[in-house]
Amino acid sequence: MVIMFGRPIDKLIQKGYYDPSTRSVRAIRGKELHVESGDWQIEGALRMLFHVLDPDVAKDPKNLIVYGGTGKACRNWEAFETIVDTLMTMKSDDTLVIQSGKPVAVFTTHRLAPRIVMANALLVPKWADWDYFLELERKGLTMYGQMTAGCWAYIGTQGILQGTYETFAYVAEKHFQGSLSGRIVLTAGLGEMGGAQPLAIKMNGGAAIVVEVDKRMIERRIRFGYLDTWTDSIDSAIDLAERYSQRGEGISIGLLGNAAEVYPELLRRGVNISVVTDQTPAHDPLSYVPAGMSLEEAMELRSRDPERYKRLSLESMKRQVEAMVGFMRRGAVVFEYGNNIRKMAYEAGYKDAFSFPGFVQAYIRPMFEEGRGPFRWASLTGDPRDIEILDDEVIEMFKHNRRLVRWVENARRYVKFQGLPSRVVWLGYGERSLFGLRINELVKRGVIGPIWIGRDHLDTGSVASPYRETEGMLDGSDAIADWPILNALLNTAAGATWVCVHHGGGVGIGYSIHAGLGLVLDGTRESDLRAERVLTVDPGLGVVRHADAGYETSKRIIREKGIRAPSIKQS
Ligand code: NAD
Repeated sequence: MVIMFGRPIDKLIQKGYYDPSTRSVRAIRGKELHVESGDWQIEGALRMLFHVLDPDVAKDPKNLIVYGGTGKACRNWEAFETIVDTLMTMKSDDTLVIQSGKPVAVFTTHRLAPRIVMANALLVPKWADWDYFLELERKGLTMYGQMTAGCWAYIGTQGILQGTYETFAYVAEKHFQGSLSGRIVLTAGLGEMGGAQPLAIKMNGGAAIVVEVDKRMIERRIRFGYLDTWTDSIDSAIDLAERYSQRGEGISIGLLGNAAEVYPELLRRGVNISVVTDQTPAHDPLSYVPAGMSLEEAMELRSRDPERYKRLSLESMKRQVEAMVGFMRRGAVVFEYGNNIRKMAYEAGYKDAFSFPGFVQAYIRPMFEEGRGPFRWASLTGDPRDIEILDDEVIEMFKHNRRLVRWVENARRYVKFQGLPSRVVWLGYGERSLFGLRINELVKRGVIGPIWIGRDHLDTGSVASPYRETEGMLDGSDAIADWPILNALLNTAAGATWVCVHHGGGVGIGYSIHAGLGLVLDGTRESDLRAERVLTVDPGLGVVRHADAGYETSKRIIREKGIRAPSIKQS
């Protein structure tokens, strides 16, 4: 790609935010605006794109991959540069259309409309499988956007940390009198999502053994403070975990190895493990590393013979899931952590693969029933002080919620920011709009700088994913994908700054449809309108979706908060 003199992006190149020769991108900080419109709505989108590609945030930024196997921020470097040029020159009443990471059109709409609409990786259902998707991707026609990668809402491992923390807190509450203290937890995968597990387990008092095949990922987690120590010896890992759990102390241990080999070995040795789960990238058999080969051998085989790689990968997942069921039969609490590994093992011929539940069905659904989910914000000027002020605010506003307060205090202590300083707090229906309006007021008064608000697609009303978020819905509506589409349409009507619909995040192509959003609060009256509307309808549809499926908590919220839901019959 030749950078022509005089392109808008040159301004960012000169300032060192982007280097086209090395393909490196850095988060943009400071108060100076770079877009011609002089509008923080557009500048905010530009900054979130740069933020997700910052090397402290993205796992493989040179290939535009942010997290989750191959979840990308945009299609290719040409598309990246064109998106940047377009954002820098579009007007405050324009809407940019992005098709699977490629900017395809700009239309004049109106000021309160989204500045960007996106669709990522969508395929007509009959063609929606990995093989066909990869063929289209090779032709340069599409892109895998995962959940928050392709809509620029990824905030590093913290984003998933609270959800993971809450999940293990629920596990502790349900099975171990409220704490994992004295318990060994076995899991795998220290990637961008899975990397939250060791810290979340430790925050809940447990001793975590986390199997990871790539030493660099272990080092990355130690560097960001998510993992205490590591070893390549099974004996040492067991010894350390047992010592800490006997003392009732939390610790996190990275164990360099392949989960498909280590899980059966730990089962064979009869180690006393209380909880077992996994976050290898099982949703994508070409990302999961098969047993019995080094990382280099795996990479070589993947490019030489992807079909054989896939077979070996599925066979290894089968071994791993067999061991997980083995732990379950011995009395451990076992659940799938959102990566579709049960389905993969089932396809590889293991008929008992679905013996244990998914994590949403087992632990998260009660929060979704209340419209609660992974709400998050980032300082668009890159000022950590903004986050400190908002930490105080959120604690003050919701101090009756002890779980929330404990989380924010823990996050302050343990979480290192990646890219733009940010915070995630699971807020529910009513709480999100209240807090959004409060943020905008603080921006208006100059107490803090402009703030981006977003959320994961793993949320109350924005995802259809029958092996994860919508597994085992009361009325059997697990695979109904109208809801995420309605969510995106509604957020567009309500005026989110950007709105996106994706396919295949979390569990892989063919298994999910989901929607996301970005909302920039710049202290204006328009931001008040956007915040009030978007932060009401977005979780509101989640409450309605769950009430429609028959959940009583959601029906109660509809009644108490006066949500107009004409088809919900109150019992
Ligand atoms: P990632 O690609 O960033 O990391 C996966 C890690 O697993 C890598 O470090 C890789 O080296 C390691 N790995 C691969 N094969 C292995 C093996 N056989 N044994 C041990 N380690 C192995 O992925 P991620 O973003 O961490 O996501 C992990 C999985 O969790 C994905 O399937 C993703 O879709 C799913 N996910 C879960 C949630 C959730 O809420 N729990 C949310 C999003 C995604």
